Amino acid sequence: MRILVLNAGSSSLKFKLYKMPQKDILAYGLIEKISEELADIHLFFAKSNYKKQKYIKDHQKALKIVEALFLEFGILKSFEELDGVGHRVVHGGEAFSEPTIIDDEVIKVIHQMIALAPLHNPSNLLGIEAMRALNPKTPQVAIFDTAFHQSMPKSAYLYALPKEWYERYGVRRYGFHGTSHFFVSRQLAKLSNRDLKDINAISLHLGNGASACAIEGGCSIDTSMGFTPLEGLVMGSRSGDIDSELIFYLERSTKLTFKQIEWDLNHASGLKGICSDNDMRTIQERISRGDKEAKLAFDIFIRRVVKYIGGYAMLFKSLDAIIFTGGIGENSALVREHITKHLGLLGVVLDKELNKISSSLPRVIHASNSSIELWVIPTDEEDVIAKESFRLLKNLVKE
Ligand code: AMP
Repeated sequence: MRILVLNAGSSSLKFKLYKMPQKDILAYGLIEKISEELADIHLFFAKSNYKKQKYIKDHQKALKIVEALFLEFGILKSFEELDGVGHRVVHGGEAFSEPTIIDDEVIKVIHQMIALAPLHNPSNLLGIEAMRALNPKTPQVAIFDTAFHQSMPKSAYLYALPKEWYERYGVRRYGFHGTSHFFVSRQLAKLSNRDLKDINAISLHLGNGASACAIEGGCSIDTSMGFTPLEGLVMGSRSGDIDSELIFYLERSTKLTFKQIEWDLNHASGLKGICSDNDMRTIQERISRGDKEAKLAFDIFIRRVVKYIGGYAMLFKSLDAIIFTGGIGENSALVREHITKHLGLLGVVLDKELNKISSSLPRVIHASNSSIELWVIPTDEEDVIAKESFRLLKNLVKE
């Protein structure tokens, strides 16, 4: 089966073509700056790559270009050869706790979720609707970032707010990065040769967006992102947890409008707000030159992660593993070292040499006397989307 995985952003389209169930990647790429003056097209296939700049009006035209390139390079004759398309969709609300085959009703519900995810769901829908328009017969599957967290108990997902706000307006914690936390927890079970049901773990997805997740027997029981991806850890440019009263203070007492405050909390806060850089590599480089502001941003980031680990550890009867993933979690030995040095009370002991090894493979980094395993597991959300789409579609399609 040929499955195309799509991740549509407001002006971008990421794609990866899989042959399933072998999981062979036949081609992948990215189109950026859709509907701007010149879009950037990148395609990688069979150890070759193709780059071009061209005006692309919209997502439908972008998909047409991908289809034409697949034909030109002998990857597929047309999208009609696809057996399915899997889409990343950020918000599925309470309606979806599983990957779902897309039909008119599902599209309607994803539309309804736009109120909850105005930055993400409209872009995800662009990808779905563009593919439907081009290729209406090919089945499509939605994999929701929120779905994995639907297993959270009410005590984790309800805010201590008037209960009508939840009942009438859907105000609750949904959690995000679910596909990533799902993937690394399954990888951990596979790599350590244990039954998923027997593992309690804390997964740390540390990237430009960052979240922690407490996973009991393969199910999310708590996570740091909430009603939106703004809550929780300090991120590249998002504040994470704040006292919500400060928003009203700023609106009342300064010239900042609610709109500006919302923008600043999402785009001008986090690491960037403190030291003007949101990129951890740059921050580490500045720290190595003795830059105090960069070190302060780093320390605030680390402290927040440590507080979440401490809190989540207390939710379990026993804790087996802490997983590091995401661009920072996978690649920054310094971040892992600084987080784990606070975890002595839990009996965590880092192997400093193992921690320093840089690799794209999953690996352990704890010392033999550590009471909790420490794993670095590169995330692969597309892998989940391809596998879950295959699982749902294999009974529909004859190979
Ligand atoms: P992501 O959003 O998962 O792509 O992660 C992006 C973040 O990972 C950025 O802050 C990068 O600076 C950080 N990152 C990537 N590689 C490294 C590295 N080798 N050392 C430190 N941070 C890194």
